[in-house]
Amino acid sequence: MLDHNKIYNPLSNFNKAINKLSANGIRPTKQRMILAKLLFEKGKRHISAEDLFDEVREEDRKISLATIYNTLKQFTSLGLIREIVVDQNKSLYCTNKESHYHLYIEDENKVIDIPTKNIDLNIPSIPACLKLHDVDVIVRIRTLKEKYKN
Ligand SMILES: [Zn+2]
Repeated sequence: MLDHNKIYNPLSNFNKAINKLSANGIRPTKQRMILAKLLFEKGKRHISAEDLFDEVREEDRKISLATIYNTLKQFTSLGLIREIVVDQNKSLYCTNKESHYHLYIEDENKVIDIPTKNIDLNIPSIPACLKLHDVDVIVRIRTLKEKYKN
């Protein structure tokens, strides 16, 4: 599954990610390459470190969960992926590079992208010495189950 795309495409998300690592002086180790392939060659998605760990094992590879966490943090700081902190103990990582917000279905632990145009934000004016860097929106919803009815 890993090398289904034999034709080198410099504009693929995987190759752009590897180029970004090199441009930042980070060696594209075998482990980073495996994780980048899993992250960027399966389309836009949201994945946890634990799920990525399972996918690595399904490919008969061995990468420790600690290395996966570190690599995800590194990829996030390079802007290759976005971290969605769904609660204080859990993050999901988004591979969609386009500007968007998130809808989080709490009891299904599922994240869906929402186009930014679907949500009107009234952002207060920002002092001239500062600039707006980014806006993260997570809309949290729950399915209507008995336990949530109050
Ligand atoms: Zn997303």
